[in-house]
Amino acid sequence: MNSVTSFTRLKSVSGPNRHSTGGRGKRKSILVSGGAGFLGSRLCGRYLEYGCRVICLDNLSTGRIGNLSHFMEDPNFSFVLHDVVDPIKIDSQIDYIFNMACPASPPKYQSDPIQTMKTNLYGAFNLLDLAGRAKARILQASTSEVYGDPEVSPQPEGYQGNVNTVGPRSCYDEGKRAAETIFHEHRECLGIDLRIARIFNAYGPGMDPEDGRVVSNFINQALAGKPITIYGDGSQTRSFCYLEDMVDGLIALMHGPATSFEPMNIGNPNEFTVAELAALVLEKIPSGSKIVHVDLPTDDPKQRRPDICRAQKHLGWFPRVNLDQGLDQTIDYFRAEAEGRHQSVPLMVR
Ligand code: NAD
Ligand code: UDP
Repeated sequence: MNSVTSFTRLKSVSGPNRHSTGGRGKRKSILVSGGAGFLGSRLCGRYLEYGCRVICLDNLSTGRIGNLSHFMEDPNFSFVLHDVVDPIKIDSQIDYIFNMACPASPPKYQSDPIQTMKTNLYGAFNLLDLAGRAKARILQASTSEVYGDPEVSPQPEGYQGNVNTVGPRSCYDEGKRAAETIFHEHRECLGIDLRIARIFNAYGPGMDPEDGRVVSNFINQALAGKPITIYGDGSQTRSFCYLEDMVDGLIALMHGPATSFEPMNIGNPNEFTVAELAALVLEKIPSGSKIVHVDLPTDDPKQRRPDICRAQKHLGWFPRVNLDQGLDQTIDYFRAEAEGRHQSVPLMVR
């Protein structure tokens, strides 16, 4: 039994020390850099539900304090306003670190490419340094973008990618690739206990409506009765993974067997064209929005679909929520956001 299973089972156990595990007999402490963002805030929420202590470290560049508002009163939660580009000094016990700090949306990471590179590179060094001092296990949020504009599909972890070093996406793609190398060498040379998750297009409640990614754009455009902006002809593909499935996968990887230190794809292999996504959103939100086609951004990947055999084999993980179900949850969330009704906890499909 891996410890994810025990985490899940712990949810049903009551009492203040329900997460007392291991020889030290203390609650586990989790640090989430980028914990105010879409994925990071849900990780914070999950570990608080498991009874852990959670430290969220974020510079609030794309994250929102509103994502954390429902934890702020929790005595097990603390927030540190900090940029991972700068060295991190935290002396308290830390058992697990999730390095989620980095804007994930193309318009956001391209708005300050040098800061994006620094976040990926200096952030990797600073968090690995912290992990070494704290003797913590660390998980790096890497990305499907390490495959660039892939020439094979689906993409297995062994595929080495097709990445432009000097295009508009390079600050992110090459930053994440270099971060994987920095992590790998810290394991090889210094014995740091680590995991690398290659995340494929996550979506769900908690996304910033202004984020600029395709799912948030299409839903908010449809809700407002505005044109749906398809970039290019819409034949490019993505494989969308619902928030709760993604967070399950990240937690499974963090607590998975020691053999899972190699990079691992975490995503949903069901592939859709962008035009199919637009049609599905319009079917669910019949507000009369028209489709408009605008220029395809430079280096926009033509296809993306994860091969998740490694995650299935090592972690027993696979996604359970299909796009139809996940979009319904996400639309409910964005509708509430648009109407000013704050949903404090992202909805789960189970
Ligand atoms: P997000 O933009 O919602 O969250 C990123 C968080 O990092 C924000 O809270 C932001 O304020 C914080 N941050 C950014 N730069 C920072 C810095 N220098 N110091 C401290 N905090 C900083 O993005 P997300 O979708 O939650 O993605 C989280 C992580 O997962 C990112 O590392 C991203 O690259 C990776 N990822 C996400 C996806 C996805 O589909 N969501 C896909 C691939 C990889
Ligand atoms: N896209 C689109 N319209 C939008 C936003 C994005 O057609 O309003 C396309 C984009 O060109 C890409 C896909 O949707 O092909 C996914 O874009 P996103 O920014 O969500 O993430 P990416 O996978 O490109 O990092």
